[in-house]
Amino acid sequence: MPDALVIGGGPAGLMAAEELARAGRRVLVVDAKPTVGRKFLMAGKSGLNLTKDEPFETFLSRYGEAAELLRGPLEAFGPEAVQDWARELGQEVFTGSSGQVFPKVMKASPLLRAWLVRLRGQGVDFRTRWRWTGWGDGFEFATPDGMQVLRPKTCVLALGGASWARLGSNGAWAEMLAAKGVELAPFRPANMGFAVDWSPYMARHFGQPVKGVALIVNGKSRRGEFVISQRGVEGSGIYAVSKAMREGAELMLDLLPDWPVERIAERLSKPRGKATVTNQLRKVLKLDAVKLALLQEFARPLPTGKELARVIKSLPLKHSGPRPMDEAISTAGGVRFSALTEGLELKAAPGVFCAGEMLDWEAPTGGYLLTGCLATGHWAGRAAV
Ligand SMILES: Cc1cc2nc3c(=O)[nH]c(=O)nc-3n(C[C@H](O)[C@H](O)[C@H](O)COP(=O)(O)OP(=O)(O)OC[C@H]3O[C@@H](n4cnc5c(N)ncnc54)[C@H](O)[C@@H]3O)c2cc1C
Repeated sequence: MPDALVIGGGPAGLMAAEELARAGRRVLVVDAKPTVGRKFLMAGKSGLNLTKDEPFETFLSRYGEAAELLRGPLEAFGPEAVQDWARELGQEVFTGSSGQVFPKVMKASPLLRAWLVRLRGQGVDFRTRWRWTGWGDGFEFATPDGMQVLRPKTCVLALGGASWARLGSNGAWAEMLAAKGVELAPFRPANMGFAVDWSPYMARHFGQPVKGVALIVNGKSRRGEFVISQRGVEGSGIYAVSKAMREGAELMLDLLPDWPVERIAERLSKPRGKATVTNQLRKVLKLDAVKLALLQEFARPLPTGKELARVIKSLPLKHSGPRPMDEAISTAGGVRFSALTEGLELKAAPGVFCAGEMLDWEAPTGGYLLTGCLATGHWAGRAAV
């Protein structure tokens, strides 16, 4: 029987396991999937953004309402510690122009491989295909060999959020915690795309990026890129405003963020001869095919003159709500901080700690998610020690 059980082998659980093993505890990590760290590996598919290099208070503020609750964990294991951790595992990191930090190889697999070797060297044991199913007389698991019950001295739950269920994080644990009387905030998608019911004209633009635009939400304009997909819009620019949009804010696009509206109106006031409006927009404003298509899609029939200039500067992107939660990069909601002690121990279940995305915090993409998971895993692991 292990001293310490960690349920969930994502970055939060592995970090908790490491802290427990470092303190000499016999640690067992169990995971429902055949291998651990599946979402972490997926995160590395398009460049593993580990953390963000920026002043600490700015960094902390990205966690919104949960910022002060995460101050302790992030002070103890913040962006610098994340970079040291990656280097100690043999992965050089670099900082991109916007402060985002990546391993040089961009992928997660070498990091995960080295981490698992180190954990095994520290005596951490693993059981996979073990699904935690409830609290009976201990922690009950459905395993290939039937039901198993473990009664460790302490346990860290690091079960992930409620998106990308096929990678293991299906949110099914919420029912088990609710049964124990743990207060939970409902799951909501975070960093997600939005559904758009495109007209057939847009089909030729599916998969294309929209670059050099600004996204305006709640009166705030920020540069960003996104992708037009068959199902709607997605990508970093959309994710950055997705929380506000989820809460009902409208999204407007500024297709020419470097041009004042007067300059656009002045250009459009010149006689266009036999040229169509579209040709004029292409020629005098250098609008590319994707931006022209968006303009046609959301502002048909196109107005003229000053009104057209205004629409180019604030084109309403009409959508029909967030894409399904399972597609979201992360989820908001989960175990409320009011259900936890400062050490992330469940008040309703002393000796049981929680970490990672299953806690009720959210943050934008940009390395905040993984740093938040590693920091809370580290904090919960220490508290469990
Ligand atoms: C496409 C994509 C790209 C991403 N890119 C980035 C990025 O670049 N930077 C960044 O910071 N973040 C990124 N993220 C988010 C990041 O991967 C997650 O926030 C992080 O993996 C969450 O860590 P976690 O340990 O809390 O949970 P998870 O990694 O989800 O791990 C939870 C584990 O618990 C196990 N589990 C669940 N229920 C049970 C059960 N009942 N019994 C046993 N085991 C169970 C699961 O199998 C899983 O292994 C990305 C996410 C996605 C989907």
